[in-house]
Amino acid sequence: QDELMKEYKVVVLGSGGVGKSALTLRYVQGLFLTRYNPTVEDFYRHHTRLDEEEVTVEILDTAGTEQYSSMHQLYIDHGQAFVLVYAIDNKQSFRDVEPLLNQILDMKKTRNYPIIVVGNKSDLEDLREVDREQAERTTKDLWLVPHIQTSAKEDYNVTEMFRRVLRMINSYQNKQ
Ligand code: GDP
Ligand code: MG
Repeated sequence: QDELMKEYKVVVLGSGGVGKSALTLRYVQGLFLTRYNPTVEDFYRHHTRLDEEEVTVEILDTAGTEQYSSMHQLYIDHGQAFVLVYAIDNKQSFRDVEPLLNQILDMKKTRNYPIIVVGNKSDLEDLREVDREQAERTTKDLWLVPHIQTSAKEDYNVTEMFRRVLRMINSYQNKQ
């Protein structure tokens, strides 16, 4: 049964502390992670229903390793979709997104791949450093990838974001 199930390979990338692990755990286990362990890298298998079908989602929750490391190349090779996370209260974390995006597109040898940019920690509106409209314009108009705001803490848009990623994989594969 398991072998027949469709599998999706999703890689979560972004600078340290933006909430990659918190988003992943929120989606997979429905929990909010408060303890911060920046070095942990984990791999999850999650079963869910997508459009009337039982599917398996493999999520690689990466640690904040160096940007151009060989580990990154392995992740990128492996991934069918990429979740590029920044935190809305950390301007530098948004700046860190573009080199990741470029590295993925270079390695996949394409201008178009299932990628989403995620502004996490939307509950920290008072501490916002990244202007929402500017971030949306940059990702949608300049990088041509969707942008979504999430809060792993408040469980806002997390499942929606991952489901959107799975649908992006489907439509990408249907076009190949
Ligand atoms: P990672 O290094 O990207 O995996 O970041 P973590 O998931 O470990 O989160 C880093 C810190 O940010 C932890 O203390 C989390 O509790 C906190 N955090 C993660 N997501 C959110 C969020 O949506 N809102 C708030 N307020 N804190 C968050
Ligand atoms: Mg982490």
